[in-house]
Amino acid sequence: MELLIRNGRVLDPDDLTREAGEIGIRDGRFVAVDEVDCSVATVIDAGGGYVAPGFIDMHVHVYEDGAVIGIDADRVGVQQGVTTIVDAGSTGSDGLARFRETIIETHDTEVLAFLNIARKGLCDGLSELADPADLMSVEEAQVAFEAEPNLVGLKARMSGSVVRDQDIKPLQHARRVADALDVPIMIHIGNPPPYLPDIFPLLRKGDIVTHAFHGKQHGILDADGEMIAEAKEALARGVLFDIGHGSASFSYETLRQFKGKYDTAFTTSTDIYERNIETPVGSLMTTMTKLLQLDYPLEEVVATVTSRARKALGLYEQGTFEVGTIADVTVFNVVDKKMSLVDSNGEVRETAKVIVPKMTIKSGRVVWNG
Ligand SMILES: [Zn+2]
Repeated sequence: MELLIRNGRVLDPDDLTREAGEIGIRDGRFVAVDEVDCSVATVIDAGGGYVAPGFIDMHVHVYEDGAVIGIDADRVGVQQGVTTIVDAGSTGSDGLARFRETIIETHDTEVLAFLNIARKGLCDGLSELADPADLMSVEEAQVAFEAEPNLVGLKARMSGSVVRDQDIKPLQHARRVADALDVPIMIHIGNPPPYLPDIFPLLRKGDIVTHAFHGKQHGILDADGEMIAEAKEALARGVLFDIGHGSASFSYETLRQFKGKYDTAFTTSTDIYERNIETPVGSLMTTMTKLLQLDYPLEEVVATVTSRARKALGLYEQGTFEVGTIADVTVFNVVDKKMSLVDSNGEVRETAKVIVPKMTIKSGRVVWNG
């Protein structure tokens, strides 16, 4: 089975000089265009749209019947031009086998996951780290990672409402587990305690801070818009920032201030689920559109959901056009359109350009065509 994608503007995050050109696919993987036999290949017309490696959203909630929040994986995946999604801690070790059965194996969208350090995952009350008895042991985590190849790390939500009186202790525990398994931790930050000056020193190279640009008190920026020392030190060690828009965790103003002073690379993700898809999140492309609005160049915005996400998650097959890797492709348009887009703080900004999905190819197969 051979495919040739034609008539698109290739946006290759690994090679920005590529621009014009075609993409060759054979048996679900990328091949050099001159290896494709044009007499037998199926030609896919990209209709002048942008052609990029399949987008990766590294913070979603898709465990529909296994966690208190969730949404259908394909609805926020391939149907929105996203080929790989990472569920961020909806499940702990207790629900993992069922997560594979009912979510990973039943959707066109590739579903990876950060494993909640709490055995039961996101449960009633969303205070999964309030009781130390609920935390996964090193041995339990080892069993989970051996059983489930789609796990990419651990998740620990560091908000007062999640940890109650435990403060930093669940993260200290997660640190021990992550070190024993040599996997990254995705940390959620929000309303303290615990406070960031206590959280950041526990993070190592490769750990990910999601909700990094929230607009709540006690965030990464001080009152003068300067990054706090512990955050600067963490970035210097190789800790990564991720957007994780969500209902309450993305502020235009925070990112605007950050952008003016720091050019640190971050990844873009949605933290999308049933209750925030209508507003304020919309989709991964809506979140990317908000970055365009803040004057980030399109190439960089696309890198945040492809090459940069690939690197952050330690992936090889995804987020690239590299020959031999799985042929996941996102075709999209940037249309001139005025829209009012709201952030999690209620700030509305008008945009002149909007990123919209056009076609999704997963493992060399067109799985969605808008
Ligand atoms: Zn989340």
